[in-house]
Amino acid sequence: MESRSAKCHCGQLELLCTGTPRRISMCHCVECQRRTGSAFSVAVFYERGRVHVANGSFAKFERDSASGHPVTFHFCPRCGSNVWWEPARMPELVGVAVGAFGDPTFPQPEQSVWTQYKHAWLRLPEDLRVFASNPPART
Ligand SMILES: [Zn+2]
Ligand SMILES: [Zn+2]
Repeated sequence: MESRSAKCHCGQLELLCTGTPRRISMCHCVECQRRTGSAFSVAVFYERGRVHVANGSFAKFERDSASGHPVTFHFCPRCGSNVWWEPARMPELVGVAVGAFGDPTFPQPEQSVWTQYKHAWLRLPEDLRVFASNPPART
């Protein structure tokens, strides 16, 4: 099965993700803007059993989310990149930062969430499902 490698900025922390992602989601919420330092984030959700730490050490930061469930973010203690996170709302899934793959051929997100906070200049692909806040829960 196909494996993809996700790395932090300095390269010491590496995650291996196997198979096809369950979901790819773009998020415009302000927490994601602050977390990434960018105008939005793209989360690649894999089933938990398909994600393994291949190399390196990490630190964690947990916060509550708008869904009412906490999310635990895992980041490189050396360079600070947030490589993956574990949402208690979807305990079977792990979110991986699409940028950590460094792969411009990575498949497009299928949904865009929290667009009420989308930067005004940003144009979305027409085939994205769009939600002003969180999408309805599904697994
Ligand atoms: Zn690093
Ligand atoms: Zn977000």
